[in-house]
Amino acid sequence: MKIDEILKNKRTLSFETFPPKYGDTESLDKTYNVLDELSKFEPDFISVTYGAGGTNSKDNIEIASYIKNKLHIESLAHLTGGPSTYEDIDRVIGELKKNNIENILALRGDKPIYYTEEYCKTFKHATDLMEYINKEGFTLSGACYPEGHIEAKSLYDDLVYMKKKEECGAKFFITQVFYDNNYYYRLVNEARKIGIKSPIIPGVMPLTSPKSISKIKSMCGSTIPLDYLNMIEVYQDNPRAFRELGYNYTVYQIMDLIAKGAPGIHLYVMNNVNTAKEILERIPNVIKEFFKNK
Ligand code: FAD
Repeated sequence: MKIDEILKNKRTLSFETFPPKYGDTESLDKTYNVLDELSKFEPDFISVTYGAGGTNSKDNIEIASYIKNKLHIESLAHLTGGPSTYEDIDRVIGELKKNNIENILALRGDKPIYYTEEYCKTFKHATDLMEYINKEGFTLSGACYPEGHIEAKSLYDDLVYMKKKEECGAKFFITQVFYDNNYYYRLVNEARKIGIKSPIIPGVMPLTSPKSISKIKSMCGSTIPLDYLNMIEVYQDNPRAFRELGYNYTVYQIMDLIAKGAPGIHLYVMNNVNTAKEILERIPNVIKEFFKNK
């Protein structure tokens, strides 16, 4: 089923996962076990990342297909144009079709550390990939950035390209991780002002160790609000208390997002079943009552 159709009928719960680094049988089996466990939470869809370098496309398809055809959960296959040629994309979308996968998150992809002109030669931006594949019958979605993309000159510039993504076929958006919900509300407000109509699903991810803070900051530039920083300072030397803080903070974000009408919650579980467990088992009644069909 197409995810935009699900979004018309209910608030969605979704997880983000990634294919194993090595596509050997043992690694794939481990990932299947993770997905089996995640399926018990009955998510509306599970997304699978696509390597920025484009090298793991086989495993991306393999995992997306397992979600759709073995677990019977909608899968959202990420696809990055940056490292790809037309032939690469033709091959991947052919495989996705063969495996009945109906939803694609079309991206440019993270620029590799050793960036060369070859990267993004064919598909400079996510919109170029969307234009190329939007007649292929998939439901397309795009990434968006509550604090603006790190390369964007301004939030407004970024919003203009978000609108272009919608014009190129994106039927819904998933946000970058954020820790201050006000940035999400601002993004939604500004997006509506310039005519973007598609659902914007907030993406959340708990901070479970002090190390993860610097990683998030360098990868996504997400701001940690002062209140949260003050608590981090107190709990940072106690790993268990730090994790409790992280889970409870994400739960707080989710409760607030739902209260203010978010169309879904995308949990960046990144193959960690415990993340889903710790968060969702803290809010069983919210899951039961606020994610049911309209
Ligand atoms: P773009 O939309 O191309 O944006 C990149 C920059 O160019 C922005 O500053 C934007 O303002 C600007 N821009 C956009 N369109 C245009 C245009 N038409 N003309 C001029 N400028 C433009 N990375 C991966 O490698 N693999 C993944 O699986 C993956 N999954 C992700 C999932 C989500 C939900 C999110 C939020 C991010 C994900 N990323 C992934 C990271 C993403 O690839 C990076 O954030 C990347 O830097 C930008 O990707 P994009 O598709 O938003 O690019």
